[in-house]
Amino acid sequence: MNIVVLIKQVPGSTEIKVDPKTNTLVRDGVEAIVNPFDTYAVEEAVRLKEAQGGTVTVLTMGPPQAAEALKQALSVGADRAILVSDRAFAGADTLATSFTLAAAIRKTGGADIVIAGKQTLDGDTGQVGPEVAMHLKLPFATYVKKIESADGGKLRVERLVEDGYEVLELPTPCVITVVKEINEPRLPSLRGIMAAKKAEIVTWSAADLGEDAKRFGLSGSPTQVVETYVPERVKTGEMITGTVEQQVDRLVEKLKETGVL
Ligand SMILES: Cc1cc2nc3c(=O)[nH]c(=O)nc-3n(C[C@H](O)[C@H](O)[C@H](O)COP(=O)(O)OP(=O)(O)OC[C@H]3O[C@@H](n4cnc5c(N)ncnc54)[C@H](O)[C@@H]3O)c2cc1C
Repeated sequence: MNIVVLIKQVPGSTEIKVDPKTNTLVRDGVEAIVNPFDTYAVEEAVRLKEAQGGTVTVLTMGPPQAAEALKQALSVGADRAILVSDRAFAGADTLATSFTLAAAIRKTGGADIVIAGKQTLDGDTGQVGPEVAMHLKLPFATYVKKIESADGGKLRVERLVEDGYEVLELPTPCVITVVKEINEPRLPSLRGIMAAKKAEIVTWSAADLGEDAKRFGLSGSPTQVVETYVPERVKTGEMITGTVEQQVDRLVEKLKETGVL
């Protein structure tokens, strides 16, 4: 079974700054981690491979330093790592991102299952997995919390919904996005870390993907971020002092003023 796992490197801090001129994230000087949901995707792929054989390929679109995220995935059992990186991909919205990832998946020779995280910590749209499925014209299931079985050209999964879960059966090849309930990601072994350090990261540029260049990056992105802002925190707390009776009177007065009473 050939499994491709999509992983993204994201800022490891919630103190994210946005460049006011370009409306893009300022990534310089910010610690980068593998998007947490993607670690569950990698673990699930490695478990499937261990049970049934096959190959796990991890794929990311990002700047050269995203190779570190790929190495982390290699250290816990992925077999092959591909970095899709080119200035032509800058400014990509989710449509251009998923188009690029889909082209790279095709270039790998395709996959029986593509596994992605349910969403990222930074972009947070949850759109990339389903959009990759759309570009590859594959069926997909989101919010998968368990793979019940994966054989006979079919994948049977439990999909998390608000008040329980659904059981879905999909023909392979297909795309799924996973939630953290699906497994407990393993820690890398020392051997795994050493092997990942030496491993080759295959890097593909825009030209390598052989697609219409206009569909990459900003030129392939119909979405425009026109404004970004950090919500202003307004501190309106007031200390009520005096005797207990005075405090209660003042509180009741305040509640009436604000329309609560
Ligand atoms: C107009 C516009 C301009 C933008 N410009 C930039 C920019 O200049 N630079 C920039 O960094 N971002 C930019 N972004 C953000 C960029 O579009 C998103 O980071 C990207 O499309 C992924 O979306 P997401 O983070 O919401 O992923 P989600 O849809 O929430 O991710 C779901 C899953 O898809 C997979 N996935 C997502 N992204 C990747 C990836 N890159 N590689 C592999 N797997 C992935 C992961 O498995 C992830 O868990 C821009 C967005 C817009 C709308």
